[in-house]
Amino acid sequence: MKIYTIGGYEEIGKNMTAVEINNDIFIFDMGIKLDRVMIHEDTNLQDLPPKKLRKIGAIPDDSILDKKNVKAIILSHGHLDHIGAIPKMAFNYRCPIIGTKYTISLISSLIKEEPFSECKNQLIATNKNIEIGNYEIEFINSTHSIPETKFVALHSKEGTILYTGDFKLDMHPTIGKKPDFKKLKELNPKVMITDSTRAPEETKTPSEKVAVTMLQDFLLDSYDEKKGIVTTTFASHIARIKTLIDTAEKMDRIPILLGRSLCKYYGTALRLGIVKEKAKMIKRRSSIEKKLKEINKEKEKYLVITTGSQGEIDAVLSRIANKETPLLLDKGDTVLFSTSTIPHPINIANRYKLESKLKMREVRIIKDVHVSGHASKEDLRELLRIVNPENIIPTHGEYTMLASWAELGEEEGYRIEKDIFIRRNGQKVVIE
Ligand SMILES: [Zn+2]
Repeated sequence: MKIYTIGGYEEIGKNMTAVEINNDIFIFDMGIKLDRVMIHEDTNLQDLPPKKLRKIGAIPDDSILDKKNVKAIILSHGHLDHIGAIPKMAFNYRCPIIGTKYTISLISSLIKEEPFSECKNQLIATNKNIEIGNYEIEFINSTHSIPETKFVALHSKEGTILYTGDFKLDMHPTIGKKPDFKKLKELNPKVMITDSTRAPEETKTPSEKVAVTMLQDFLLDSYDEKKGIVTTTFASHIARIKTLIDTAEKMDRIPILLGRSLCKYYGTALRLGIVKEKAKMIKRRSSIEKKLKEINKEKEKYLVITTGSQGEIDAVLSRIANKETPLLLDKGDTVLFSTSTIPHPINIANRYKLESKLKMREVRIIKDVHVSGHASKEDLRELLRIVNPENIIPTHGEYTMLASWAELGEEEGYRIEKDIFIRRNGQKVVIE
């Protein structure tokens, strides 16, 4: 059994791992890395050809793989750092792309948005198990920050491979079900390939339920009734958007979703019945301007939910702060960020500018009303004790994150290079 660590082993982004068993290859995820913020949002990916993207290190370099032996590309969830390279490179493989219904819907729209994409692969949307030749692919319930995220188990005669994808162990998710510990316990995998983004954090990641309490604590109990409230979160964070809509209704305010990516992700979740909470969704710039003019006259009637949580220059929130829209925020109005600032120098600079402009107008700023979607060290320990894999390969992180996972593994009795392996992009692990 060979595991190829193709992308996501030196960074957060462009995740891609492949497993080879008796010359049959299965690929887990095929992501893009443009900028860390864009993994959660939309961007004009269609303008960038594959060759250029590979050169700048934005998509994985898959030259290590014998492409004709690839049987399937399996996707763990719909964030762009896991699916964003599909329209750019999946056509090199003559195999189906398999994912849950929500993930495959996002893939379909990514391919459609890219007029010259050669991606003609069969798309298989399933939330159940699927057989390919002598192999069985099992999607096991997981929790993260986008709907229908799964742990993926590949069952073969040589043993089971568990690819965790991104996850947290949320026992109180606000949409979807809890992680399926019973199934995880039964797997006895030969290898577990696993998320290490928050492995250095010596804590347990709080449940999404905590974010609900934090949001309601502010919005329901301490707001000035006659003032404007503008909120922002990641466009793909459907659970959070649902809470914002719920809370707006409790406040007798009308929830309004503004921005193309918010409407795309939330609209897909509504269409698939993942959420029921409806809100007016406006994506076209001219329509957004018109609505903001109305809102400006009666700010106390609305709760605005918008793109731009990282201070992205062209997003609705930045344009509001720049007074480029008819909604004029002033003393006592509130801007609430239901995200963390992803610590990239560009985001930090953009957020600083955005916040300074708001403060100059005496707008109240409420930051970090957020919980992470990634497991911290003590969640990873819990998963390890439940799954008890023979071997561990940490992925989805910079070197220090992979190393923190390895340290945790050693605390639990594993040994580096014996049964826990740290690799860089473009390398492999051979397991006898
Ligand atoms: Zn993710």
